[in-house]
Amino acid sequence: LDQAKIEEASASMQQKNALLETLSVTDSLTGLFNRNKLNAIINDQLARYERNKRPFSVLMIDVDHFKTLNDSLGHVAGDEIIAGIARKISQSIRNVDFAARFGGDEFIIILADTAISEALKTAERIRAHAASVHCGTISKTFKVTLSIGVIQSEPEDTSLTILLSRVDGALYEAKRSGRDRVYCVQPKSDSAT
Ligand code: GH3
Ligand code: MG
Repeated sequence: LDQAKIEEASASMQQKNALLETLSVTDSLTGLFNRNKLNAIINDQLARYERNKRPFSVLMIDVDHFKTLNDSLGHVAGDEIIAGIARKISQSIRNVDFAARFGGDEFIIILADTAISEALKTAERIRAHAASVHCGTISKTFKVTLSIGVIQSEPEDTSLTILLSRVDGALYEAKRSGRDRVYCVQPKSDSAT
């Protein structure tokens, strides 16, 4: 067997493995991380936080009245709007942050090494940037509004479930108090940052 052929086959295998690995962590509609990868990212962040006590922040984003938009435009256009919002989100965060699709019209952003005041700025930046989304299938631009819940990690966040339920609560407050806004939970443990 010739060495060049072996190397070629091995390189091709490595490429395929890399592709499979990417696919296994990616949400196919948006290109953001999927729910599985998000869980791993949060668990990793929680472990780091326990060691170094430096907080990270979490944003939970939900499109306002998306069902109405989806029902009137159809699923294909609806999908395109979800993908467009995902793109705007990606453009509004740092390379070190993690953006995931949580499901349907919901997204979660993990801001590593970030306290609440900085997280609030990011949330407002996302909200402003995603205010209009273009839909190519029907060549129209739509106004969309987002509700965003924001929390900073706290000592009480001893599990993924606790953390997610706290940020879900923050998002619920943003919705309940009128939508198109950011609701921030003030940290109990006021850290140095
Ligand atoms: P709210 O302001 O309370 O969030 O109102 P809403 O209409 O956005 O309500 P909700 O978030 O519960 O509804 C999300 C809708 O998104 C439900 C479903 O019709 C639609 N949806 C969920 N997943 C997808 C998807 O992958 N593609 C498309 N096109 N629509 C989806
Ligand atoms: Mg919604």
